[in-house]
Amino acid sequence: MGFDLLNKLDVVVAICNRQTLAPSYSSSKFKAIIGECGEAIFNLFESKYQEFSREQVLAVTAQSPYAFTIQLKAERTRKTIKVTMSDYDEDQLMIVGQDITELKKLEYSLQAYASLMETQEKSLIKMAYTDSLTGIANRRAMFKRFNEYIQNQNQNQNQNQNNTKGSIAVIDIDHFKQFNDVYGHEFGDYVLKRFAEKVTLALDNDCYFARIGGEEFCVFSYTRNGAELTTLIDTVLDSIKCYEILTPEKNMTQLSFSAGIVENTTHGTTLDELLSNADKALYFAKATGRGQVISYSTDLLAKYNAKPMPKFREIKR
Ligand code: GH3
Ligand code: MG
Ligand code: MG
Repeated sequence: MGFDLLNKLDVVVAICNRQTLAPSYSSSKFKAIIGECGEAIFNLFESKYQEFSREQVLAVTAQSPYAFTIQLKAERTRKTIKVTMSDYDEDQLMIVGQDITELKKLEYSLQAYASLMETQEKSLIKMAYTDSLTGIANRRAMFKRFNEYIQNQNQNQNQNQNNTKGSIAVIDIDHFKQFNDVYGHEFGDYVLKRFAEKVTLALDNDCYFARIGGEEFCVFSYTRNGAELTTLIDTVLDSIKCYEILTPEKNMTQLSFSAGIVENTTHGTTLDELLSNADKALYFAKATGRGQVISYSTDLLAKYNAKPMPKFREIKR
């Protein structure tokens, strides 16, 4: 291939002595594009880029011992020249420089686009698992977390590691409707937000807290047994009962909740089953006075001497 033709290509070429690295030929394009720092490039090859430092050069990235990308600071524009060295003949090496500035720009835009997509995807996933009103986890997130927990437990079992049972509390705010009825839906929303904040503060890292329905919440404790979670939720209830909320009419109002507790595996193995039994205990907590925490047991009816539970769909939720 004649050197004239090389000048017309989108690559720049120089032939240099294998020993001295002095150029015996360099195409006009080579001179135009990397000519100014050609010497530096040769130094670069000589020293394997260790001593490379020139004003015009912004950065040098080694792709392999014989291929480098050199970023130039030419006239406020950054040019990226990919330089590759190969055998030309016995005595000489051929250095090929290719202006890959546009390619690099495209690569950067693609990277930026990919990272934007990743950020958007992450925020969509976050939205899908977050309750938009209170900012805590939603029902979907609670099911996901519980299933992950069960999978983890199964793995531990396979490795003969100790498993904890974990427990669940279903919490329902007492007479919540009255906040909406007396002060309006917006105030009801405000109460839900403050309630979620207060409970979050009262819980520890062992607990996963989610809003699973309108004024219904769920606490999943990874390690506490039923009795231990009952004690914790009782403490949370005490602090909620002391909490005073300013109404739109500048009066103070208070709230309380009722809760039903179940222990994983003892009272069910799927979250649906556990929530259903926790709902039964919650029903008794409501029916026998509200503002209390009741643990599920099969003899709830006898224990609390309450009216028999209506069928599930008839429970006021
Ligand atoms: P109980 O003590 O028996 O639980 O009585 P309650 O009033 O808390 O329960 P009820 O099921 O009668 O009413 C719950 C109300 O919660 C009805 C519904 O309009 C309201 N609600 C549900 N979701 C929201 C919400 O996101 N914002 C507001 N402001 N109200 C909600
Ligand atoms: Mg309620
Ligand atoms: Mg309810």
